[in-house]
Amino acid sequence: MALIERDARLLVVAAHPDDEVLGCGGTIARFRSAGAAVRVVCLAEGITARFEPHQFDQPDVVAQISERAANGRRAIARLGVLDAEIFLEERRCCRMDALSEIDLVKGIERHARDFAPTVVLTHAAHDTNIDHRLVHTAALAAFRPYHFRDLAALLAFEVLSSTEWNPTAPFRADFFVNVSESIDVKIEALSVYGDEMVASPHPRSEEAVRSLARYRGCQAGMEWAEAFQTIRVRA
Ligand SMILES: [Zn+2]
Repeated sequence: MALIERDARLLVVAAHPDDEVLGCGGTIARFRSAGAAVRVVCLAEGITARFEPHQFDQPDVVAQISERAANGRRAIARLGVLDAEIFLEERRCCRMDALSEIDLVKGIERHARDFAPTVVLTHAAHDTNIDHRLVHTAALAAFRPYHFRDLAALLAFEVLSSTEWNPTAPFRADFFVNVSESIDVKIEALSVYGDEMVASPHPRSEEAVRSLARYRGCQAGMEWAEAFQTIRVRA
């Protein structure tokens, strides 16, 4: 099945800036290399989980949020995504459970209607990170089958330091994208995030990212791969 083609339209719905590169950076780069349109949406800012609510408006916290967004924009651009198709929204990190789910669903639907994707990549269902789980559930609702009938594939990606930290519900990798041509650009994009990357053996280290891509490749007879879990595929 040729999902990656010039006429494809890939929409990535992620929780925080860096999830998109960790989860599917090599795949994003492949879609762009094929000439496909790609939009990346991150629904929350990825910083304030480290702070108490009374600190959110402090200048250093605001500066960190701005820096994360600036890094996100540069990292996603490194994958070939046009600036106009990068949407870094600023809901509070790891507090999306305080929002109404319907508003989250409608926020995703607005991008879906505006962009008309043929392929959607989003979070897996059982990550330890609460925003990841909420984004997954909201995406299921936003991309219910009757709507968006041009959607050929809805797939879930894995995010190191979240997906594998829930061993009670392991990620079922059943769809593999060859990223042999784009693993290096994925690593370059991750390096833009600076301190978000950690020294090995942390899962958000270059060594772990490469190891996972190697392992996923081995599962599918490829040098390097990113793995996805099929939610719905139709042809
Ligand atoms: Zn995240």
